[in-house]
Amino acid sequence: MADAQSAIERFGLRVPREFAALMRPGDPEDPLLKQVLPLADELASQPGYTDNPVGDREAEVHPGLLHKYHGRALVIATGACAVNCRYCFRRHYPYENGSATPRQWERILDYLHREKTIDEVILSGGDPLMMSDEKLEAWLTKLSTIPHLKRVRLHTRLPVVLPQRINQALVESLTRIRLQTMMVIHVNHPNEISPQVAEGMAALKDKNITLLNQSVLLKGVNDDAETLISVSERLFSIGVLPYYLHLLDRVAGAAHFDVEWRSAQRLYKELQAGLPGYLVPKMVREIAGEKSKTLVQALTE
Ligand SMILES: *Cc1c(COP(=O)(O)O)cnc(C)c1O
Ligand code: SF4
Repeated sequence: MADAQSAIERFGLRVPREFAALMRPGDPEDPLLKQVLPLADELASQPGYTDNPVGDREAEVHPGLLHKYHGRALVIATGACAVNCRYCFRRHYPYENGSATPRQWERILDYLHREKTIDEVILSGGDPLMMSDEKLEAWLTKLSTIPHLKRVRLHTRLPVVLPQRINQALVESLTRIRLQTMMVIHVNHPNEISPQVAEGMAALKDKNITLLNQSVLLKGVNDDAETLISVSERLFSIGVLPYYLHLLDRVAGAAHFDVEWRSAQRLYKELQAGLPGYLVPKMVREIAGEKSKTLVQALTE
């Protein structure tokens, strides 16, 4: 208990009530609980697990702006998040919980104006939907004035952990702009998809917003074919396509979630055998310094 307490001190326990309500009461093995419950395991130091596993600090062109890949830049619009997933790859990222300052905004926008090869901006965080509707709208409006931008993408878990965040004002601000809008949500387990989550997705889909999902492969949470197949099926039933299945980023404190590479490859083969091709997410790992996420192939024996 004392050790779990020190894990909390390093990275606080944070779970919205709506998400907690989807857990099975009294079940320590609940797959949603496991994603958020601080454990003493986090304190064990493991070789290869670091504070900066995916080279974010090297890719930072300005505070709050990561430009790693051709054509896409990622804005850390706010460091705040509604939930603290224990495996979060940014759990040690040195951002404050506040949003980018007006001065940082300006620098980010200048850079995006200057870099004509960028045609897509990803608003990430933390979670960009932790910003107020007004602040988000201000970002979207500014981004729309950059002539070479075509698309804006939001990487967010709020529609899952706090579905009421998808309100009318938000949906409208996403559709008012010139840019094509995409939302990439983050579901790891079918139990996360409540009727409220489905409602939010329906509201967005109604406005032609492209809806994708990324999951993280997590030991003890979703590392079996049946669960992953069910994630894809459930997502599709609410209008969301599976995009990525990430192998865990080797962030210090998360080693107990790691699924071994070969087991992941074996699992992927089962996924491919069990789903239509369009419901199979791309299994990837992020390797620092690479020009894209790295595809992990299914095991062929
Ligand atoms: C993952 C990531 C992206 C998006 O990559 P896609 O393959 O286009 O989804 C962009 N920028 C950064 C810094 C990223 O980590
Ligand atoms: S929702 Fe995303 S950013 Fe927030 S704690 Fe979880 S993994 Fe990290």
